[in-house]
Amino acid sequence: MPGVAENALEAGTAGAALNKDQTILVNIETTAVCRLSSTCGPRCLLNQLNTHAQSPLQKSQITRMASEFITSPSSHFVRHVCALGKEVMEDASTLFEIIRLWHATPVSKRPGTFGIITASAQGLETNLPEFVRHPLSWVVVSLDVPSVRLRSPENETPLLTAALKLRAVGGVEAVGVNTLLTPTNLDEVITLGRRLNGAEIHQWSLGSFLSPSPAGQLKPVMQLHDYRQAIESIAKEFRNSKLRILFDLDYTDFIPISGCQPEVLENLVAWRYEYPLTSNLTLTALNPHPGYFLRARWDGELLAKGDFKVIGLERGAYGKWQPGRGEGLLADLVSMHQ
Ligand code: SF4
Repeated sequence: MPGVAENALEAGTAGAALNKDQTILVNIETTAVCRLSSTCGPRCLLNQLNTHAQSPLQKSQITRMASEFITSPSSHFVRHVCALGKEVMEDASTLFEIIRLWHATPVSKRPGTFGIITASAQGLETNLPEFVRHPLSWVVVSLDVPSVRLRSPENETPLLTAALKLRAVGGVEAVGVNTLLTPTNLDEVITLGRRLNGAEIHQWSLGSFLSPSPAGQLKPVMQLHDYRQAIESIAKEFRNSKLRILFDLDYTDFIPISGCQPEVLENLVAWRYEYPLTSNLTLTALNPHPGYFLRARWDGELLAKGDFKVIGLERGAYGKWQPGRGEGLLADLVSMHQ
């Protein structure tokens, strides 16, 4: 799983079904495993975060939980459902059960889009026919430059190729790429961006690599001046390009960089804030207030925005999932801002 997890695609046809009442991003972790864990080691965000997680839910529990988020009376207030892992393609049968559920639910009653974040080229390739039968709204693949030392550089080309092939055969509507920035990898990232420019992806999301703070929270390694330099260089490099670029920022960085007034943002009922900087580069920040983000961990802990990125968290703010809890929680989140 990439560092930029609070993400979804609204570009392309995937965004056509969205409306302003859909204001919640739901993440569902479907697996506790990733075969690249030993390669990424502690640099994997989830290797750090879930050190106190309990046993994974059974498959039937995960699908039941997902069903509550997808088919309950409040599900049409969910904007995006994102299935992810650790590596979501490690358990394709659970994933497809959930996708089938989404397709079987009437458009007016289900979440706006259903997507996945993956780094598994093999998983996409092997399951291509099944994706064609049950297409995704979007897929985001994690492509990073070698200095970040996540996954292996050999993984990147097959991964992008697999995602584009999936789109070409109708297994997904939109393809995005997530890439991590550090204060020292800007040149490498720009080189990667030039390759992506020709691939005609729908969205390239850039976010900071995270590292632990003394208080045990994962924090961006990028400082304000790093962001400013990166944004300026990338905006200049791709100013005449069709590449749609999103800079994912924490709310606290979004305010000074965008210049938006917090009082104005307070009144917005939106899953994330967006500030178009140029015709193809937008700054974004997830709405930090309660009610807009819910992450179901693979052991059933239900995490709020404030929980996610706390290392070794044992209990989520929304408690442990049990049958019916997902439906009730979703109704509570909706009531916070509708
Ligand atoms: S590929 Fe992603 S989920 Fe898997 S170990 Fe590496 S960073 Fe973690």
